[in-house]
Amino acid sequence: MVTRYGHWIDGADVASLGGEWLASTRPGTDEVVCEVALGTGSDVDRAAWAAAAAGAGWAALKPIRRGRVLMGIAAGIRRHRERLVELEAAETGKPAARADVEIRGAAAFFEYYGGLVNLPAGEIVDLGAGYHGYTRHEPYGVIGVITPWNVPLNQAARAAAPALAAGNTVVCKPSEHTSATTLELGRIAAEAGLPDGAFNVVTGLGDVVGRAIAEHPTVRKVAFTGSVRAGREVGRVAAEKIMPVTLELGGKSPNIVFADADLDAAVGAATSAFVGNAGQVCSNGTRLLLQRTVHDRFVDRLLDKVREVVPGKAYGPQTTKDQFEKVLAYFDVAIQDGATLATGGRATGEGWLVEPTVYLGVTNDMRIAREEIFGPVLVVTAFDDEADAVAKANDSDYGLAAGLWTADLARAHRVAAALQAGQVYVNEWSAGLVEAPFGGYKNSGHGREKGIEALRHYTQTKFVSVRIAE
Ligand code: NAD
Repeated sequence: MVTRYGHWIDGADVASLGGEWLASTRPGTDEVVCEVALGTGSDVDRAAWAAAAAGAGWAALKPIRRGRVLMGIAAGIRRHRERLVELEAAETGKPAARADVEIRGAAAFFEYYGGLVNLPAGEIVDLGAGYHGYTRHEPYGVIGVITPWNVPLNQAARAAAPALAAGNTVVCKPSEHTSATTLELGRIAAEAGLPDGAFNVVTGLGDVVGRAIAEHPTVRKVAFTGSVRAGREVGRVAAEKIMPVTLELGGKSPNIVFADADLDAAVGAATSAFVGNAGQVCSNGTRLLLQRTVHDRFVDRLLDKVREVVPGKAYGPQTTKDQFEKVLAYFDVAIQDGATLATGGRATGEGWLVEPTVYLGVTNDMRIAREEIFGPVLVVTAFDDEADAVAKANDSDYGLAAGLWTADLARAHRVAAALQAGQVYVNEWSAGLVEAPFGGYKNSGHGREKGIEALRHYTQTKFVSVRIAE
């Protein structure tokens, strides 16, 4: 019997007012994992008003009590981890081990922000004698959280945890392909004592449910994760409403290897940085920039490493049919671009699984160097010196993450400062998955998730001045 999930609104499972359901299938198969409600604007209206009604009570709670509830949600995620991993692996196609890391990361967001509930405290503003001036960091009210299909529960938790910690309430819309674990989060939150209405989930299509959330008059901020296309749409709605929006969009992140680097370490990290989650991670390192003097040596080692990667074991299929077809189309684009295929460049023949793929001789005028493919595809470009490396790395519409490998500490800091990216990793790829501010430069978006900084983005500042003497 297939599980059927209604929306999670005001602490209860409710069917869509439109009465329709959407099947979610295991990627590359017809196997139905679950059915979710096909949401309408009226469902969003119910959820948004429930969130608005819950807002005052939740915001008025002593912060430490809000923190206790968030810690309880984290414990609930860990308690239900096995089921969450199973559901997430089934809907996304990723290996259970990978889903497990991400689900534990979702719990960590609630633990981290549960411990920071007292942080959005105000400051005294000294106006001289006769005044007491101070600031308050107040919640916006209702936050819309819109997430994609690649890392579903983790991304919902990434936005919902700081939003709730700061005293906001939430209406969340997961991707129509991967809604189950976010719906389970609603139940887990209720079990942990989160008041009804403080966290709601409305499932369905982006153009209907996502748009209705962004447009709803009670929603005062949206945290959006997804494509540049949809991010622009949400941004347009936000402009009309004069509403702040956090946009976490795509990436085409450069990974720069200087000749003095620990090449063995760099080879391993450069490989996992592009095959991770079948390439379906916005901050994957997908452009490898190699100093010309070590280029050939590095490529030999890299190809040995990449050939050890077993698709289906190291990573799963592309999560959606559109995504699978998009990756295949880029294999044709690469040929038109004139890049040299070093390995891969095709589907494995099993479901929507793609071979790890490396292109050599790639220049920044090629589409495969400029556009986000979101598959296990690496493009390799040679550079001459530091200035050339920085220029080539920055010659991109995106600016989400960047990596650099060198034994020269001064150069590490110099290049890190010069790179146009929201995160820069030196002698590794990726760190600080919960604690470090994460977000984009340029078309990769604006605003930040994660870390203390994200908490600030979920509050607005009020200044109060009290005249206490003539
Ligand atoms: P998408 O933009 O198609 O969808 C993302 C979410 O937005 C979904 O829930 C979708 O239903 C909704 N949506 C679509 N149109 C909308 C609209 N007009 N108004 C409101 N909501 C709308 O993206 P996707 O295909 O699900 O995900 C892949 C993209 O997400 C990639 O480009 C990837 O780089 C990006 N991504 C970014 C990050 C990050 O943190 N920067 C993380 C993961 C994925």
